Amino acid sequence: MISLQEVSKSYGQQRNDRLAAVQEVTLSVEEGTIHGIIGPSGAGKSTLLRLMNMLEAPDAGRVIVAGQDWTVLSEGELRRARRSIGMIFQQFNLLQNRTVSGNVSVSLELAGLPRKERAERVRECLRFVGLSDKAEEYPATLSGGQKQRVAIARALANHPKVLLCDEPTSSLDPNTTNDILGVLRHVNETLGVTIIIVTHEMDVVAQLCQRVSVMEDGRLTDSFALQPQNRAS
Ligand code: ADP
Ligand code: ADP
Repeated sequence: MISLQEVSKSYGQQRNDRLAAVQEVTLSVEEGTIHGIIGPSGAGKSTLLRLMNMLEAPDAGRVIVAGQDWTVLSEGELRRARRSIGMIFQQFNLLQNRTVSGNVSVSLELAGLPRKERAERVRECLRFVGLSDKAEEYPATLSGGQKQRVAIARALANHPKVLLCDEPTSSLDPNTTNDILGVLRHVNETLGVTIIIVTHEMDVVAQLCQRVSVMEDGRLTDSFALQPQNRAS
């Protein structure tokens, strides 16, 4: 579904202060799977995730999504292509001055979907994450778990093939974490969405992922399958 080929990314202007966040990473994520990326803080996990939807442009290498090389696309083509990949974050990144519905609607407005279809999509996605009754609330009134559900609904609004998750449970307590992992599993199983999850929480990986890649110092150092019996169902 997503394939990185010898992808590298450095930050900084001068040659002497350039920092190689991701170095020559080659990685394939299979369609329909849940794939974890683990490793210590600063290892390059977030950067790798942002390279997968080209929120960061790689310095070298190729990013292939559903068979298409995204590194050769123009900005406009890339903007359209990115609708096939949703993303969620540790801090939810909701717009505080918009209602729950308004937040889910944002990417649909950018995609130019007509108002009536937008409303239908928003309803469908809020129903999917179990938040139909919160549609007119503002994010500030919600719990952390509810905020992450809104973020998931927003990420699903354009019917993506892939969902990228950057530390999605790291600001949640253990019960709420399990709850959100259940939602992500539901997204994968009922919608067939491929999920890639960056986390430093080993339990999350053990419960959710079929495959795990390990990053250290910008490099992929290991990649292995997890036995299904390790996963809670
Ligand atoms: P992780 O997600 O594993 O904690 P990151 O991908 O966030 O790692 O960061 C990898 C390295 O790249 C770190 O040293 C970090 O400080 C650096 N880095 C990440 N983003 C930027 C940026 N926008 N500008 C400069 N340096 C960055
Ligand atoms: P379409 O491409 O016609 O919009 P799909 O084949 O993608 O529909 O989806 C089939 C069914 O699953 C539809 O009823 C659709 O509403 C629902 N569905 C698809 N993707 C999502 C999603 N991301 N969130 C919630 N429901 C979805």
